[in-house]
Amino acid sequence: MKLLRFKKDGKEKNGAIINGGMVEIEHSLLEAAHSHPDHLERKEFYLLNEVKILPPVKPSKIICVGLNYRDHAEELNMALPDEPILFLKPSTTVIGHEDSIIYPAQSHHVDYEAELAVVIGHEARFVSEDDALDYIAGYTVLNDVTARDLQEKDGQWTRAKSFDTFCPIGPWIETELDPSNQRVCMKVNGEVKQDSRTKNMIFTPKELISFISEIMTLQPGDVIATGTPPGVGPLQVGDVAEVNVEGIGTLKNRVTKS
Ligand code: ZN
Repeated sequence: MKLLRFKKDGKEKNGAIINGGMVEIEHSLLEAAHSHPDHLERKEFYLLNEVKILPPVKPSKIICVGLNYRDHAEELNMALPDEPILFLKPSTTVIGHEDSIIYPAQSHHVDYEAELAVVIGHEARFVSEDDALDYIAGYTVLNDVTARDLQEKDGQWTRAKSFDTFCPIGPWIETELDPSNQRVCMKVNGEVKQDSRTKNMIFTPKELISFISEIMTLQPGDVIATGTPPGVGPLQVGDVAEVNVEGIGTLKNRVTKS
């Protein structure tokens, strides 16, 4: 089942895509993620093209993994990490499907990074790998936009990863995905730039949840960005970035001037 938040006539609503149709639901997305579709209280039906899609969650934090694809490590000639390399993006980076990525004046090199994202469904602390999947509400698509020149200049990654609008997520949460071998694809202006599969991940979603939960409490709605495959490259003002994760859908954003 696909779960989304949307705006219609100035009001924010929750919705589900069931059998190809979009219906407003009474429940929050995290409540709905733990329910059977037949048990959801349904309201009005809408067409996707008559609503504004909002980010599916408001995370308290976005935990990202650097260098998590074997084929990306090979491309960079880097050794495989023995533990996940983590960094954070603030909640204020989040934008939704078809919102604009604003190219910051401080940077002259902004890159896209296509990623599968995990949405946390239950508070998680010291969770074992065996139990980790129980804490997942679902999966979504994420573009980890990065000011590469500032990342190199600063050494620390905070500025490079944290500009407002640098974390497009959506368009929705898919609750029934098997994350082990899905295609992850990035297109810029219709041209394929990244094309790999989640089977090339070094650390799987359940390994990441267990590892991260030993450090910090994962709260419902928090997002884990699972790293990007090879083919990372720059965006220019006016570009249209489309991230597709097989089994979920396509997240599309245009780059605009600050
Ligand atoms: Zn990334």
